[in-house]
Amino acid sequence: MENKYPVKSTYTVEYWDCGIAEHHHKTYEIASACLSKQNKAAKYNERHRREYQSKLARNKAIAAEVIYGATILEAAINHGVSPETARNAINRVLIKGFQRDEGCDVLTAFRAMHNRPVRILRNDPDFYIKLVNLAKNT
Ligand SMILES: [Zn+2]
Repeated sequence: MENKYPVKSTYTVEYWDCGIAEHHHKTYEIASACLSKQNKAAKYNERHRREYQSKLARNKAIAAEVIYGATILEAAINHGVSPETARNAINRVLIKGFQRDEGCDVLTAFRAMHNRPVRILRNDPDFYIKLVNLAKNT
């Protein structure tokens, strides 16, 4: 059969769908493997998300304790971390909180909040606790 003119037409391609639109797997086995890979990645991401959340909660608690009068060493002991980790926890929380409060980039927040002396934090607890409460994982 010959066409005198081009005729618009379609044809069907079968493939194994793993749920990702761009994937067109040729075999069931490959699509299956892709799905189990996706599930593993989802579980991994969920585990890490939870770890980040609990770390953030711990960091917020450390920062609040120090703002309200605990020494860095005391807060570190309370949370079973080294003083360096406690200091980093305070930095992280204040940088994140400041960034959200100001709507600024992380470098600006870092410059403003990195290694703020503890006595400065205690001189204005309302402001710093506000930052602690604002801190969120991105
Ligand atoms: Zn796939």
